Amino acid sequence: AALGHHLAANFELSRGDMEHALSDARTALNYAPEEPALLLNVGYLLLRRSEFKESLEYLERARRFAPDNPDVPKLEGWAYYGLNKIAQAVAEWQRAQALRPDKEVQLALDRALADKQEEESYKENESSHFKLRYSGAAAPALAREVLRTLERHFSAIESELNFTPPEPIGVILYTQDAFSDITKAPSWAGALNDGRIRVPVQGLAGVDSELSRVLKHELTHSFIAQKTRSACMGLAASCAIHAPAWIQEGLAQWMEGQRSREDAAVLLQIYNDNKAIPLSRLEGSWLNMSGDTARYAYAWALANIEYIVQADGMGDIERILDRIGAGMATETALRDVLHSGYDDLMQSAAEYLRKTYAR
Ligand SMILES: [Zn+2]
Repeated sequence: AALGHHLAANFELSRGDMEHALSDARTALNYAPEEPALLLNVGYLLLRRSEFKESLEYLERARRFAPDNPDVPKLEGWAYYGLNKIAQAVAEWQRAQALRPDKEVQLALDRALADKQEEESYKENESSHFKLRYSGAAAPALAREVLRTLERHFSAIESELNFTPPEPIGVILYTQDAFSDITKAPSWAGALNDGRIRVPVQGLAGVDSELSRVLKHELTHSFIAQKTRSACMGLAASCAIHAPAWIQEGLAQWMEGQRSREDAAVLLQIYNDNKAIPLSRLEGSWLNMSGDTARYAYAWALANIEYIVQADGMGDIERILDRIGAGMATETALRDVLHSGYDDLMQSAAEYLRKTYAR
């Protein structure tokens, strides 16, 4: 019976139905509570839900029965990294590499080592939903103000999306140089979210409206990642499910308070000239785009999200994200919720821009 449930769990995960997979995996554990493969399976499914602490309980049990299984430290490293315990993540991933070298673990380990070295001298602070690290160069008063701002944004996004991330979210405040060195982000990227929110704050004495906006934008990415269960080891390659970039960036800008306004005329012109970038081509990473293309992609993504929200409310976005989190392709989720595919959506968005902003 245990094996049957185990297979069922794997099958359902491959279809993206994580709720069922998790309950099946737990049922299987009732029959074979000491089976390492089952314990690892539950631990893995919890990691995908960003439930790091509970995951660690299962992984620790797996370790008792299979001390040399390399998947135990691999997954524990992920859990500790998610909990912002970088030194412990490094130790676990080093142990995993010693047991069985693995490319995915090596990449995660390299990044965690860079983080650990950079953050060694950093101070820490936390609030109910955040764990913050900041370089000694930033003032403690700024750190406290950042936390207060983040908590305010957290409540706002929580009620918009009707969802509460289960674990504290990691935030790191950098000097500009450290930000560029660590993230290797393109020059047009002002901040970054790769599982942790990374923000340069050089020269700031307090939270101005620009920093507040950036924090809300990046925090929206954390909500979307956790709502769509796309948590991974922080490496895009290991993320099985991922909300498309146009939804991520469109919604993050919407939450910041941006609206199409003065971009509407240009976006409409580009659409009418048949030169709009199809949303299907804006699903993957934008990090290799030129600054101009990226600026257009952000504006076009915002226009489409803005149209969806004004047409029928944030509930539609919520339902689309839930379907993506259950493993559905984005366009299928759109058809399910909006009853239209990409072409229809873009046409409606263009129509919305014309009606709302043309004079
Ligand atoms: Zn963004």
